[in-house]
Parts: sequence; C-alpha cells; structure tokens
Amino acid sequence: MSYIKVNQDKINDEIAKKLIDICPFNAFEYTDAYLSINASCKICKICVKKGPEGACEFIESQKVQIDKSKYKGIAVYVEIHNQEAHHVSWELIGKAKELKEKTNEKVIALVIGDQVSHIAEEALTYGVDEVYLYDHPRFKEFNVEIYTNIFEEFYKKYQNNVILYGSTPRGRSFAPRVAARLKTGLTADCTMLDITSEGELLQIRPAFGGNIMAKINTPNHRPQMATIRYKMFNAPKKVTPYGVIHHEKTDAIVKDTTIHLLEIMHKPKVSDLSDAEVIIAVGRAFKKQKDLELIEPLRKRLNAEIGCTRPLIENGWFDARKQIGLSGRTVKPKLIINLGISGAVQYIEGMKEAELIITVNSDINNKLFDISHYSIVGDIYQVLPELNLLIDSIMEEKS
Ligand SMILES: Cc1cc2nc3c(=O)[nH]c(=O)nc-3n(C[C@H](O)[C@H](O)[C@H](O)COP(=O)(O)OP(=O)(O)OC[C@H]3O[C@@H](n4cnc5c(N)ncnc54)[C@H](O)[C@@H]3O)c2cc1C
Repeated sequence: MSYIKVNQDKINDEIAKKLIDICPFNAFEYTDAYLSINASCKICKICVKKGPEGACEFIESQKVQIDKSKYKGIAVYVEIHNQEAHHVSWELIGKAKELKEKTNEKVIALVIGDQVSHIAEEALTYGVDEVYLYDHPRFKEFNVEIYTNIFEEFYKKYQNNVILYGSTPRGRSFAPRVAARLKTGLTADCTMLDITSEGELLQIRPAFGGNIMAKINTPNHRPQMATIRYKMFNAPKKVTPYGVIHHEKTDAIVKDTTIHLLEIMHKPKVSDLSDAEVIIAVGRAFKKQKDLELIEPLRKRLNAEIGCTRPLIENGWFDARKQIGLSGRTVKPKLIINLGISGAVQYIEGMKEAELIITVNSDINNKLFDISHYSIVGDIYQVLPELNLLIDSIMEEKS
C-alpha cells in the first residue's frame, strides 16, 4: 500500500507546525518531538508538495503482478437465517448469471450452515453450476471467525475470480474480514456490477454523497469482492437443476474461536420496507406531522407501507427504517407514490427500480418526474383528496 513517510530527522517544532497547518485532514500528531500520521490521512500529498522540502515523502507500493488466468468462477455467498436463504443471495446469483454471459465462468454458490443441504438444492434450482456446501453443527450460528476460516479454505482451494455478498448487516461485517484475510479489496454497497470479457469486475456505486457514480476495479488482486444491496437485482427464473453439489470437508476448519456465543435474543419481527409491494413515500412538502393523517385513507385502501425522505427521519417523524435512499432502504415495490419529494439523487438511488412510479409535486421541474410513469403537477394538499380517483383511473389504464 502506498503511504506518506515522515522523515523525522528533518522535523523540528517549526516544521511540525507548518505541516500540521497545511494538512486539510488534521492527520498529523506531534508529541514529544515526534511527528506521526494518523488514520485521517487521505494521502492527498499536500504535505509532500507544499510542506518543507524533504520532510514528508510519498512511498508508492510496488504493483503486484498476478496471473489472472488462474482465477475462475463467480461465487456468491448464500446467507442463511433460520434455515432459510436471504433473498439477496438469489438476486446475486441472478446477477452472477448475467456476468457469466460475458466471461463464460461458472456461477458458484457457497452454502454454510448446519443441515442446510436443502439450501444447496435450492441454489441449483436457480441455475447455479456448482454449490460448495460446508455443513457442520458448529456452523449453525454465524461466527465471523469460523466463517472467515471457511472462506480462506475455499478460496485457497478454488481460486475464484469474483466473490459477491449481500450488503446485509452480516455481509457488511463478514466481507471486510474476508478481504483482509485474503489481502484483497472490497467495494461496499454497490448498486451496479459489470464485467469485461477478460473478467475484470466493474464495481459501481455512488460516491461523494451520491454526486458521482464511481466505477471501481481491482486490477492487481484476486478475488474481486463486492457487497450489493438487497433489491438491486432480480432473482433468476427457476430452472431444472443441472449443477453439482460438492460436500466439502469441514473438520480442519472447525478450530477454536475467541468468539463465544452466550445467548441468542430474537428481535421481534418488524415489517421491512424493502419487502413492501406498495409504498406511499412522503417528503418535506408535509408541513406538520399531523398532516400525514391525510394519506391514511389512501394507505388503507392500497394496503401500502409508508416510506419517507431523510429530513423526516431527522425531525423525528418516522423510525429510521422507513427512510428510502442511499443511507436508508432500497425498495423495489410494484407501486410507489411520491408525495412532495424533491428527488435528490440519494433518494432516487433507493427507489428508481420500482415497477410503477407516480409522483405528485408542485414544481414542474421536479427530478422525479423524469423517472415517473405518471406525473401530477400540483399541491399535495389539493391533490391528495383527489388521488383515490386518480389511482383508480391509472390502475384501470394499466390493466
Ligand atoms: C450522504 C447523504 C446521504 C443521503 N441519503 C439520503 C437518503 O438515503 N434518503 C433521502 O431521502 N435523502 C438522503 N439525503 C438527503 C437528500 O440529499 C435530500 O436532502 C432529501 O432527500 C430531501 O428531502 P425532501 O425531498 O423530502 O425535501 P426537499 O428537498 O425540501 O423537497 C421538498 C419537495 O416538495 C415539493 N413541495 C413543497 N411543497 C409542496 C406542496 N405543497 N405540494 C407538492 N409539492 C411540494 C418541493 O417542490 C420539493 O420538490 C442524503 C444526503 C447526503 C448528503
């Protein structure tokens, strides 16, 4: 890894002060006549270019050359909870199958658990070429140390080109540990994936607060790893299984762990906005919390879930789980009705895949109108009472 080196022999109180003053990230710390760089350093190199000559140096890491032809297969980690696969795993298999069209690699499912051969069978019904099954009583509950050991074994043995994980709480904790163990990169929370015919994975995700879409690749390391949000892709259609299940040896993997499970406390099941089929999404156009009562008749009629934009979470009107967008939930309902929402990119990224989008906004230039199937220019307070009738005619027209 490239880094900034401080040449301590060139540092005195005055030079240290100059460097501290020019660093935009407050990354220097000066204690007992020793100048160190902390984790805030972004390697912007201002200290090298504009600081006192020779005080700081940019050390570039040597590029690793790997034989990429040795790495084959697009693997998906199948996440299991209570003996059921999380749906994001099948969505990732759907994407892996699309990528395979370009590289002609095998699509591989990695199934870990206790008595989970039914999940391995289910993976085959989604058209997976190979399933690697690690089945052992010690794998029943997720233990990040043991599961990371499994991945290390798996990767050493099969040398995959790509490994994909869901951006679930588990995937977000697990994938970075695997990346560190395998000394490779990881792109978190991708919203799109593509691959070149040579097998270079393009990991696409919003960056800088959603203002740009960054295309990230991993040119010098394998495996190429990414976590992907739930509801970004479609699960593939079921097929007559043609793949193979490999029962992997587990004894060598079940080593001692420093993590000891004391108790499992089940959280009460709450409805997840990501699973909703109909959503009424509300924005800052609502002037008072009480005004939200105006949507009740429509919500009841459509049996809809309510979602909202971030400002409504920030002012305490809704639980954070109701936020749609980049820093909230990704949703893909059959119908979403946007009421008084500006359509900031951070919001749109979380709902643009909805099947039918209806938007009400008083601003004719509202950005959501660009992606909406039906756009209503008007004041929500006037349009809402009419919306029941409008929805009826829209639904009639659609069917
Ligand atoms: C890193 C980062 C992450 C973020 N993540 C998210 C996220 O996940 N989700 C999210 O939602 N935001 C997110 N945001 C915030 C986002 O940028 C916007 O600020 C936010 O979405 C705006 O919310 P809004 O559309 O409700 O409010 P506003 O921007 O205030 O828009 C209100 C809209 O209502 C319309 N309007 C006003 N009165 C009426 C009326 N009477 N009738 C009809 N229309 C009316 C206006 O024309 C306007 O379009 C994020 C921001 C950052 C920096």
